[in-house]
Amino acid sequence: MASTPTGTTEAAAFPTITDETAIVFDGVRKEYPNGTVAVGDLSLSVREHEMLALVGPSGCGKSTTLRMTNRLVEPSAGRILLRGEDITQGDPVALRRRIGYVIQNVGLFPHRTVAQNVATVPGLLGWDKARTRARVGELLELVGLAPDTYAKRYPHELSGGERQRVGVARALATDPPVLLMDEPFGAVDPAGRRRLQTEFRRIQRELGTTVLFVTHDIDEAVRLADRIAVFSFGGHLEQLAEPLTVLAHPASDAVREFIGDGAPVRMLGLAVVQRGDLDGPELVSAPAPAPITVGAPLSVAFEAIAALPGSAMGRVPVADETGAVVGSLTADGILAALRRTADAAVA
Ligand code: ADP
Repeated sequence: MASTPTGTTEAAAFPTITDETAIVFDGVRKEYPNGTVAVGDLSLSVREHEMLALVGPSGCGKSTTLRMTNRLVEPSAGRILLRGEDITQGDPVALRRRIGYVIQNVGLFPHRTVAQNVATVPGLLGWDKARTRARVGELLELVGLAPDTYAKRYPHELSGGERQRVGVARALATDPPVLLMDEPFGAVDPAGRRRLQTEFRRIQRELGTTVLFVTHDIDEAVRLADRIAVFSFGGHLEQLAEPLTVLAHPASDAVREFIGDGAPVRMLGLAVVQRGDLDGPELVSAPAPAPITVGAPLSVAFEAIAALPGSAMGRVPVADETGAVVGSLTADGILAALRRTADAAVA
């Protein structure tokens, strides 16, 4: 983990992604006993502290890849290294205790309380009661479930989103260096899913946990991931790149097809307003609407322009971090910014 030099901002104190590899798939293959080759020959590196999304059409080998990482599925060939150590050797049960795993619908133990569920792995590792209780309290706070209210409840007394939070807390109980998640927010309603995604991303940044997650939802991948691996059938890696690059420069027809038609709209959420995109502040007609801020996503700028009354001439003021208005932006400016962002995304 990165050290915390004095005087840095809180954000800078979070562990940052490095070139070190957390997980390496090296020529990995999985052929199921019925002859299905779920993953043909996969080579892929996951960096320390990054959140990497595996996406692609249903049946392309995403879950198989994830489950090989904790040996719920045994690879047929190749090596998988966890921080340099070949995980295909050794005890799979011990391995699973070192790797967090979150799945859709969570799989909480129904007859155990929230606290007991979260304490599962600490219990297996023989932690003493006081340490376990303290850790459970800390984790429930972390995932936004007040321990006084939730610790003694049973899973059936929770909403779907709350159960998913417990699943995340349980997976993080021993602060594993790597967390695997398979459609983690898939069973949560859309509004709750958005909130959970945002909170999970914050927690992941703070803890620096390396996360490999599977989703069929390209929007979820774009919103959460540092990089996206796009698979086609047989676990074939079509593209591995940052979300903006995947959207702006799909590496193949398979990627283009998977992304579908919405790439520019999705990019609006990733690209941000920069000073170079702005016209002069004097062009805003009075009474001036509330300004947006430099660095805001283009989607925020777009919504602000869409909400303007007709008399405002389709132009919003833009302020700097201090609140001083430094320019203005129109819908044409947003489109230019989008093109600029796409051109700048590393192909
Ligand atoms: P994804 O997660 O991308 O939907 P999976 O990894 O689950 O894909 O599956 C990849 C392929 O392997 C599919 O054709 C699926 O039917 C097949 N498959 C998955 N699990 C098994 C299994 N236990 N036995 C045989 N075939 C399987």
